[in-house]
This record gives sequence, structure tokens and C-alpha cells, in this order.
Amino acid sequence: MMKKYLLIFFCCIIVSLPAFSQRSLIYAGRLITGVDEKPSKEVTIVVEGNKIKDIKKGYIPAGEGDEVIDLKDKTVLPGLIDMHVHLESQTSKDKYSEQFRMDDADIALRATQYAERTLNSGFTSVRDLGGSGINISLRDAINAGYISGPRVFTSGKSIATTGGHADPTNGLNQDLTGNPGPKEGVINGADEARKAVRQRYKNGADLIKITATGGVLSVAKDGSGPQFTNEELKAIVETANDYGMHVAAHAHDAEGMKRAVEAGVTTIEHGTKMTEEVMDLMIKNGTYLVPTLTAGRTVADSAKIPGYYPAVVVPKALEIGPKIQDTFSKAYKKGVKIAFGTDAGVFVHGINAREFELMVEAGMPPMEAIKAATITGARILKVEDELGSIEKEKLADIIAVNGNPLEDISSMKEVVFVMKDGEIVKRP
Ligand SMILES: [Zn+2]
Repeated sequence: MMKKYLLIFFCCIIVSLPAFSQRSLIYAGRLITGVDEKPSKEVTIVVEGNKIKDIKKGYIPAGEGDEVIDLKDKTVLPGLIDMHVHLESQTSKDKYSEQFRMDDADIALRATQYAERTLNSGFTSVRDLGGSGINISLRDAINAGYISGPRVFTSGKSIATTGGHADPTNGLNQDLTGNPGPKEGVINGADEARKAVRQRYKNGADLIKITATGGVLSVAKDGSGPQFTNEELKAIVETANDYGMHVAAHAHDAEGMKRAVEAGVTTIEHGTKMTEEVMDLMIKNGTYLVPTLTAGRTVADSAKIPGYYPAVVVPKALEIGPKIQDTFSKAYKKGVKIAFGTDAGVFVHGINAREFELMVEAGMPPMEAIKAATITGARILKVEDELGSIEKEKLADIIAVNGNPLEDISSMKEVVFVMKDGEIVKRP
């Protein structure tokens, strides 16, 4: 009896095989591959299963069973990668008090919507740089197919020092502050630094995020000074590397940035008050800047709305916000490597492509900005063999926009087609 069932089971698999090998032919009017300097026109991308099998000149005729996706009047690009998001949360004037009312389940349920919105806006991969740790479960739920969202590479909970930018108890009353330690992402000294990194590895993080200097939105006075010793930073980077993880460092002021770059972090987030000395050091070490220009703009705007942020946050937002774009412009022109990242969550999810406009406005050519949001992100995440460009044998993460982003970068905000892992998420 059992054998009979097994036979039926295997027969079903054989019968259903052709469905897996069905081809999709994407007719692309204009193709930006993410690696080539110039776009190509009128090409067919052949997708089989979850992979790009071929890229052919012209619109090749469809065979029996082929699905044709007609994007002849669109620009087709690789799925975008945002290297700085926070999928667990989103700005609102209630955000600071909500932490006392929301349970983990509330956070998780909202995060599913933020993830879906991010994917629908063309970002098929994101690097999540800090939340409570629910971001790890979110990644797993997306990967397992329970919910729709981008590929998530996450740091879990960020690492800070006591009272530092990512100390989760900043601003709370004394009954609530407790004594957070490495498990909660708060360290003092090299041993605790190592423990916090190992804890994140154990929790399932893909990388490490540290808050190397003060920050804008924490309920603390210092918005930019250094918050780790050289010894602590060295311990974090060395331990992270031992476990195959890279380190992203939030930093606004030059001293904290310099220490982090010297310790060997891979990316500097924001980089607001970066000096020429730090730029040179980053060029020498190959450190990337993730500019988060959208966050700078939106935070400065929100700070002008009375009561939107706690009083201690307002002057920091007004000071730091407007500087970010100017610094990015100087760093890019000097030759610092740039990776696209927005800090979505600090503003509403789904408008991440606004960053392209701000990058181009600051002097970066559109093609460079697109590469920063595709192949560059894939390189940092060490997935460039699979993602970040439209090339043979890579995973089929493909999007399309109306218009020509090389002439008008704002067309990156009009994503009309999204394919992730060979599956169509959004159709024109
Ligand atoms: Zn952030």
C-alpha cells in the first residue's frame, strides 16, 4: 500500500516538472544591466525557474509554453538593493511613546507591511541595520515564503555603548532603564564587545551594525561624538570577521568615523561631518559610504513640525539633516566608494527611490547611482555571483520603470514591474 502511494507521489513530481522549467521571455525596450557602462536596446531576457538563462539581442519568438512579458516601452534594471533600512519600524509622531504600548507581535505585523511595500517599490534586497531582533524572524518568514518582501540581510539588534545611540533604554525612567548588556546590544570593553558580536551570530544575524557616534533620533544630547574606544572597535571587527560577518558603522562626526575606519569596518553610514582626512582614509582602506540622503532631508523636515520629535532630538535633526548631502557630494567627487542606502523607517517605507534624485542632484551621474544601488550592494553583501546585475546564471531579480532614468532619474520612482527569484511580484 505504502509503495503505491509513493509511486503516485513520484509520478506527480514527474508530471509537474514542465511547469518548473517554463520559460519567461522578458522583452526589454531598454536594458541597464548594472555592470555595463551603456544601456542596450531591444533585448530579450530569458528566465527559467529562478535564474536568468540568457540575454539575447532583439525580441526572440516565443515557443510553446513560454510566457512573454512585454516591457518594450520600459527600462529594465536589476532588482535594487537598499543598504540601509529598518523594516521593524516607521516614523510617526507617536513612535517614542509606542514602545510602551506595542508587543513584539505588533511590531512584526507592521513590519510585514513595510517589507511588502519595499519590495513593490523595486527593492528586491535590503540590508536591515537594526531593530529589536524581530528583523531576523522577518527575514526567515520571507525566505520561507510565508510573507512577501525583499531578501533581507540583517544585523539584528545594533551594538552601542552605555547611553550610546543604540542603547535601547535611553531616555527611559530609572525603573525601566535596567542594566542592558551585550545580549541587548550594549557593551563596555573589548570582552563585552566580542560577546555582543557572538550573541548576534548566535541569534542569526548576517552582519554587525554599530553606532560609532551619537545619533539624531535617540533621546540623548550628543548627536555626533565618538562612543567606542579603539580597543572596542578592533574587538568588534575582528570577531565579526571571524564569523564571516562585515561591520556597518553609523557615524556623524569625524573622530568616531576615523576610529571605525581604522578598525576595519566595511561601511560608514551617514558620514555627515566627514573630513578630507577621513575621506582619504576611506579611499585607502576601501571603505564605503552609505549616504542616507533621504533620511537627512526628511528628518530635518519633520523636526520643523512642533511636537513631532522629543525636544532633545530637534536641534540635532536641524543641524545634521541638511549637511549630509553636501558631504556626500564632496566624498563622491574625491573618490570615496558609494553604496546606495536610505535609512527607510526613519521616513515612510516605499519611497526609497527618492534617494536617487538626491544623489544625482549632488553630482552623481544616474548610471553611477544605479550601480551603487545594484552591483555595489551585492559586492558588499558578498552575493555578487548571484545578485546585483542582469547577467547569465544570476538569480532573476528584475524590475522595470517607466521612462529613461538615465535622462530623468525620477523615473526610478515609477517601478511598474518587479520579479524576485523568478516570480512576478508586480505587473505593469
Ligand atoms: Zn539607520
